[in-house]
Amino acid sequence: MSKKLMEVKNLSLQFKTDEGLITAVDNVSFSIAPGEVLGLVGESGSGKSVTAKSLMKLNPGNAVYGDDSQIILNLDGQEPIDIMKLHGSKELKVARGGSISMIFQEPMASFAPAITIGAQMVEQLLIHTDYNKVKAKKYSIEMLDRVGISDADKRFDQFAFELSGGMRQRAMIAMALSTKPKLLIADEPTTALDVTIQLQVIDLMKDLVKEFGMGILFITHDLGVIAQTADNIAVMYLGKLIEKGSVRDVLRNPSHPYTQGLIDALPRLDNLDAPLKAIDGDIPSPLERPPGCVFHTRCPADLGDVCHTQIPQFSAVNANHETACHLLTKEAAS
Ligand code: SF4
Repeated sequence: MSKKLMEVKNLSLQFKTDEGLITAVDNVSFSIAPGEVLGLVGESGSGKSVTAKSLMKLNPGNAVYGDDSQIILNLDGQEPIDIMKLHGSKELKVARGGSISMIFQEPMASFAPAITIGAQMVEQLLIHTDYNKVKAKKYSIEMLDRVGISDADKRFDQFAFELSGGMRQRAMIAMALSTKPKLLIADEPTTALDVTIQLQVIDLMKDLVKEFGMGILFITHDLGVIAQTADNIAVMYLGKLIEKGSVRDVLRNPSHPYTQGLIDALPRLDNLDAPLKAIDGDIPSPLERPPGCVFHTRCPADLGDVCHTQIPQFSAVNANHETACHLLTKEAAS
């Protein structure tokens, strides 16, 4: 089995608030291999972005990580690094813009508005590599060109607001990749783009995975994008992973009622007259987490007591697919 690049084990995270502790991530485990694209999907508020930020310890100061949480980064020729045990910006440099980079839905979040794109790229390279200013500038222009930005040497001296949305997204990808990260976290990177640019950005990311051999954690609520981009998928609901496996297995044969609901809610191109089926109810407030299975308040297959009181554990559907739902244990017992 190939060595995993990143292993997330039992990740739990609560936020301290005036109303009390709010659980945002609950005992989440997954791994990413070099060259693998893992899609993390779920509705807004499911905990996807908080999970992603945890990999770089980027959550705000009121975040409290569970004692058993481990985020292990395996870099070639080095002892495994547990990011949970790193503190302060100096220790965390390896995980922030070094071995791990992050791109966001809104590129303006990545660029300081009053500093040119080139100056920001150069600064990042000076921090994370041994390049001097001349080499950092040359390489930054090469990267802007590599992601398909025309007149890269002119764009280098422009501000983020001077570029179109698609070009800003490409510039953000160029900046994120310029330090040659081993893991790229892409948080809804294509959601704000129109469909043509979205496809260009997805193709670009696939090319770069091949070229750089990096792993990608691709966060989205769009199952269509995941089907085009990811090797494996992990489905999240109210801070818990509820189904994971190969994209092919999970999307063709979803075993968890929530994943089935997400797929049923997609418009069907072969039957445009078919009514869209929304999942009943709303995602509960994290202050009112349901006991037992967190999805039971919306589940059409609710089994009663067992679902309301016992947290379902992952069971194998096959060698590439696992689901946390009591239906599976019931089927296995009957
Ligand atoms: Fe539905 Fe029960 Fe499965 Fe939860 S464990 S998804 S409530 S059947």
